[in-house]
Amino acid sequence: KHRQKQRQFAVIGLGRFGGSVCKELFAQGHEVLAIDINEDKAREFSAFATHSVQLDTTDEGALKNIGIRNFEHVVVAIGDHIQASILTTLLLKELGIEKVWVKAQNTYHQKVLDKLGADLVVHPEFDMGKRIAHKMTSDKVIDF
Ligand code: ATP
Repeated sequence: KHRQKQRQFAVIGLGRFGGSVCKELFAQGHEVLAIDINEDKAREFSAFATHSVQLDTTDEGALKNIGIRNFEHVVVAIGDHIQASILTTLLLKELGIEKVWVKAQNTYHQKVLDKLGADLVVHPEFDMGKRIAHKMTSDKVIDF
């Protein structure tokens, strides 16, 4: 019932990437829970999310306490802290989250995330670099 309306998003890690995902979802009128281990970040995002919470997502009990199981789609944007990103992804898949999309920091990280069952792994700099290269060549064709 009301599947579309009740779809719940959560974004873990509110750096440039995660912050941008969160803000865009919220601006589009979706329900989004913003999560960061850093209290100031969590507070800052209370204005850009339905709810925001300070939480270490490598803590399984804490994840369960906020009812993460009710979220259908979770984005993990813990960049630099590869170990935390890996553990968080593992826990989310173990808890049965349907869609777990993760930002990878490097190709090794990307490989591990794939093995853990991440549903989508993005590597923004790498992906965007490729896209730009394609855009450069396609623009050339059009300009010709
Ligand atoms: P960018 O800003 O380009 O996206 P990034 O992906 O490296 O870079 P960071 O600036 O490292 O992003 O931000 C990641 C965020 O994840 C930080 O705000 C950090 O506080 C948060 N974070 C790190 N570890 C955890 C954790 N265990 N649980 C929840 N949030 C975490």
